[in-house]
Amino acid sequence: MSELTHNDWIDKASKIRFCDRAFIDGKTVPARSGKTFASLNPATGETLAEVASCGEEDIDLAVAAARRSFESGVWSRSSPAHRKEVLLRLASLLRENLHELALLESLDMGKLVKDAATIDVPGSAAIFQWYAEAIDKLYGEVAPMGEGDLVLVRREPLGVVGAVVPWNFPLDMATWKCAPALAAGNSVVLKPAEQSPFSALKLAALAMQAGLPAGVLNVVPGLGETAGQALGRHMDVDCLAFTGSTSVGKLFMQYSGQSNMKQVWLETGGKSPNVVFADCSNLDAVADMAAFGIFFNQGEVCSANSRLLVQRGIKDALLDKLIQRAAATQPGDPLDPASKMGAMVDAGHTANVMRFIEAGKKTARLATGGEQVAVNGRGSFVQPTIFDNVAPEDPLARDEIFGPVLSVIAFDDENEAVRIANDSIYGLAASVWTDSLSRAHRIAGRLRAGTVSVNTVDALSPMTPFGGFKQSGFGRDLSLHSFDKYTALKTTWIKY
Ligand code: NAD
Repeated sequence: MSELTHNDWIDKASKIRFCDRAFIDGKTVPARSGKTFASLNPATGETLAEVASCGEEDIDLAVAAARRSFESGVWSRSSPAHRKEVLLRLASLLRENLHELALLESLDMGKLVKDAATIDVPGSAAIFQWYAEAIDKLYGEVAPMGEGDLVLVRREPLGVVGAVVPWNFPLDMATWKCAPALAAGNSVVLKPAEQSPFSALKLAALAMQAGLPAGVLNVVPGLGETAGQALGRHMDVDCLAFTGSTSVGKLFMQYSGQSNMKQVWLETGGKSPNVVFADCSNLDAVADMAAFGIFFNQGEVCSANSRLLVQRGIKDALLDKLIQRAAATQPGDPLDPASKMGAMVDAGHTANVMRFIEAGKKTARLATGGEQVAVNGRGSFVQPTIFDNVAPEDPLARDEIFGPVLSVIAFDDENEAVRIANDSIYGLAASVWTDSLSRAHRIAGRLRAGTVSVNTVDALSPMTPFGGFKQSGFGRDLSLHSFDKYTALKTTWIKY
């Protein structure tokens, strides 16, 4: 837990230096076009820096650097033990730079600096460490051919991996892609979201400091339609790993089909149900975690538990407790360790969230919140908001709002709960609360979601695969399974 006070963070923030250039082939460079975009602090509206806005030319340079480094073998053919050593050093450097990285995250996209310092940055370091430690423990196979044939099946790095990531957990999402891709021996071109480029640029600088050779990790800040699209359509990118919205994920599949048929791996949106049965003995624990599940990170979480399905008999009691939790989770200055919720990522996204809220006021019952607010007279903040009596077909229950907005829906029995929970284009995560072990297994088995948490929400670890069913994507981040995305199986058949 970070011990810094509000004033300490303000002081550190006043001294921070932002890297505003792309990171290509081991050097920081401006965009070839000279174009920049403004990166704003959503808590204050102030411009933090004008950042290089990469276009096709810059993506070409970054991909060429990645390809050169890959073909040289300096990283791709280095021993797993060497890659482990470098990535372990990177994990240590992330920890040594905890405060700076946490501040970059908070200033860039509005999250609480306390959360960034206790969750995001340590999480990123832990994941680099986990993949570093994994890479020299992955064995190949010998196929059971019998006398006269020795058939080896090995995993090889794919080559150049493009990674395009969102702004809600900028460092963590970059890490979820880069750590396994780099551990496996690939070279990477990473495009952070235009709302949050700084921690990715810092990551590249720390990776070089850790001993990653030039060109192995390149970072190209820029807009989605230019830098993102150029990477998605590039003829020399072998694999494109994406985390972001479902609509943009679909574009990457098109880019691939229209270019070189690169592998595309998508981690996209969600509308996760949190299903609470009346046999739960500890309704306070449910309320605590249900509130965390939707208000953490301002609700800007792909697996946010945004639909609360409650068995009718306990709905009012649980709702009362949730309203209390919401009252205690009002937004505040993200740099104040006492604040409970930060700023929304930008004014445009705030307006989108408010459109859902205003429409919801006409179709459901607003139980609490529902207003955009300012903190210290400025910034984009939204109150924790709960709607009751939401119809399953209401946009409040169907669309990914990506804000602190909870939709409460009552159900009567297991079948109805499962039907409503699965009635979504998404299938990223789900939660079930019950004291009955049999019911927990029964429901967990029937829910169409990549992760089902029982008697908690949003359970996740480097050791477990994370990803979706249906339009929440395919392929899995985290765990050893994510190596499937960044390696190709090579068969070598030896006659003797
Ligand atoms: P987004 O889809 O708008 O942007 C994601 C990335 O794609 C950004 O880097 C952006 O610049 C780029 N991009 C945007 N338009 C593009 C285009 N036309 N061509 C190429 N690239 C383009 O998503 P966002 O608003 O940054 O993030 C929120 C979304 O991310 C939510 O839908 C959320 O559920 C999802 N998300 C999913 C996971 C997961 O693991 N499933 C995790 C975090 C966030």
